[in-house]
Amino acid sequence: MEISGRTRVVGLFGDPVAHSLSPRMQNAAIRASAIDAVYVPFHVTSADLGGAVDSIRRLGLLGANLTIPHKEAALALVDELEDEARQIGSINTIVNRDNRLVGCNTDRNGLLAALQSDLGLALPGLRVLLLGAGGAARAAAAAAAQGGADWVGIANRTFDKAVRLVEDVSVLGQGTRFAALVLDEGLAGRLPTRVDLLINATSIGLDGGEPVFPVGDCVQAAGAVFDMVYGPGPTPVIEAAHAAGLRAADGLGMLAAQGEAGFRLWFGRPAPAGIMHRVLHTAVS
Ligand code: NDP
Repeated sequence: MEISGRTRVVGLFGDPVAHSLSPRMQNAAIRASAIDAVYVPFHVTSADLGGAVDSIRRLGLLGANLTIPHKEAALALVDELEDEARQIGSINTIVNRDNRLVGCNTDRNGLLAALQSDLGLALPGLRVLLLGAGGAARAAAAAAAQGGADWVGIANRTFDKAVRLVEDVSVLGQGTRFAALVLDEGLAGRLPTRVDLLINATSIGLDGGEPVFPVGDCVQAAGAVFDMVYGPGPTPVIEAAHAAGLRAADGLGMLAAQGEAGFRLWFGRPAPAGIMHRVLHTAVS
């Protein structure tokens, strides 16, 4: 990749950020498209997020991705929001349109695409246990509500955030029932219904270790587990799902799908078909 005087930059702001495979897959797609641009990770703490977002304007970046823990805080820092992002209440993508920053959310559709391709699942009628109440969980909760899930339990370590997310997404669903739950080791015993699909949208497993909830006890035998976290190697949640005999998929498919949508937003054309998936699978194998 040759950097020229005209090379444009897309950033990735997160804390942590070093684990992310987005730079590899985005730069591979940029190279394959012969675009004079580069995708660069920046370790940005919460205290510095405002300055980092402002630097998109000041340095003329094409835009940025936002990852943990910035997806909700960044909502208030952009100039306008796409409707989808406003409904969801979090953004993972910023597009710089003539120095006006537009906040977008590609996580929701990325999740839907991955559930379909990796687990053969569509949401209508499902009973979904969603772990987490941060930015990624907001996208998943909106997807489940708008996608016609029957029941959505939102379990979070900080209970107040689960309650707030239930309140926010309740208006999006037609007929979906919601419950706020505490995420701890006793979770399985407090579930009011059997669960078809568990989605982990917490950062549990990002640094290895054991999941702090009984994965197998939460999901009925024919059910499935989707972990937004990804390897290299099986995540603790995926390992626990397999040990319980459940179908399971990690976050690589979602990462590729949301990344393809971001690429299209920044560069106005699709990424070469399949390249992001291929790069990700090579990176973790
Ligand atoms: P946020 O910082 O917004 O939210 C983090 C969530 O994780 C909160 O619900 C938090 O709970 C919970 N959490 C963190 N540590 C623990 C712990 N030790 N025990 C229990 N709960 C914990 O992050 P995001 O929502 O942006 O991202 C969440 C995860 O999803 C990340 O790992 C991220 O990499 C992944 N992700 C993957 C994507 C993909 O494409 N594959 C896309 C988006 C996200 P609390 O509120 O109590 O702090």
